[in-house]
Amino acid sequence: MSAMVRLEGVGRRYGTVRAVEDLNLEVDRGEILALLGPSGCGKTTTLRLIAGFEPPDEGRIEISGRRVAGAGAFVPPERRRVGMVFQDYALFPHLTVRQNVAYGLARDEKRNSRLSAVIRLARLEGLEDRMPHELSGGQQQRVALARALAPEPAVVLLDEPFSNLDAALRARVRAEMRRILLAAGTTAVFVTHDQEEALSLADRVAVMFDGRVLQAAAPEELYERPADPRVARFVGEANLLRATASGGRALCALGEVPLREPASGPVEIMLRPEQLLVDPSPDGPAEVLEREFYGHDQLVRLRLPDGERVEARLPGSRRLRPGGRVTVRVASPAVAFPRPAH
Ligand code: ATP
Repeated sequence: MSAMVRLEGVGRRYGTVRAVEDLNLEVDRGEILALLGPSGCGKTTTLRLIAGFEPPDEGRIEISGRRVAGAGAFVPPERRRVGMVFQDYALFPHLTVRQNVAYGLARDEKRNSRLSAVIRLARLEGLEDRMPHELSGGQQQRVALARALAPEPAVVLLDEPFSNLDAALRARVRAEMRRILLAAGTTAVFVTHDQEEALSLADRVAVMFDGRVLQAAAPEELYERPADPRVARFVGEANLLRATASGGRALCALGEVPLREPASGPVEIMLRPEQLLVDPSPDGPAEVLEREFYGHDQLVRLRLPDGERVEARLPGSRRLRPGGRVTVRVASPAVAFPRPAH
């Protein structure tokens, strides 16, 4: 697949702050990519660099095979064929839904048919003559998305697109947004600090820390095979245990654990809470410390014989009481990260 957006060695400083550093990223044609990371890691700056709201200090940016920034080139935002969906939607308050969506469309013979197609795609039929303040949050967001998609941009950029919606609405709007983006066949990059949002909406997630991409991978791979302990912790709950590896196995406080990839020497292993199998047993080596009950499942915090603590996720129907003794087995191989020897 050909890359629709490519960033190579991109850097951007604000005074002494390195917002983005040696950033490398490719977004394939038709792909939905999430930029995920903690506050201040450079997500918004990356989006603004792609959009052309600011120039990189270093590196190159290409959109659809064309150099738009770097090595002397700088194509302004309006000539990059990017569509933007802002956090607050930025709809024109004095224009109707139809006028908002039509805003970026050329005045040619295709205008009306394109307008109807986008309004249908975003399920805005019947709302065309309303003003933005007469719409729900979810509807406003669909207008913003339709306005961005109307001119058939090479890539749509979305900055924290769900942050203005309440929790109950979010999951539904998320699925709707994915449907619209897939139906439009557009390439999209969206920024979020919410791992669930990234994993559920994106085809691929780029996890950023300190201005760099630590890993870019499909949601399943990121969750099951994080490349770095920070990624492991950011995309879900992670038990990280000191261990000593030899070939395909590692010895840790849980005993001998199989590894996904062979390793040797001091390592840190990562197990998701659902990889631990816990059974009550009067003389079990581990103790239940706490339990958080969620209905369909529960998270139990356990103390292992050497004092290390782990979390396990179990079906809600299992009866485990704080203070009870349990055995802990590992259901599937762990990921190992190198650990510097002390
Ligand atoms: P958040 O999730 O909080 O929006 P982010 O990951 O989008 O964060 P950026 O907004 O890209 O992060 O900011 C990256 C770093 O650059 C931060 O340290 C931020 O304070 C700094 N920064 C961003 N914009 C500017 C600016 N215009 N002037 C000075 N510093 C800036």
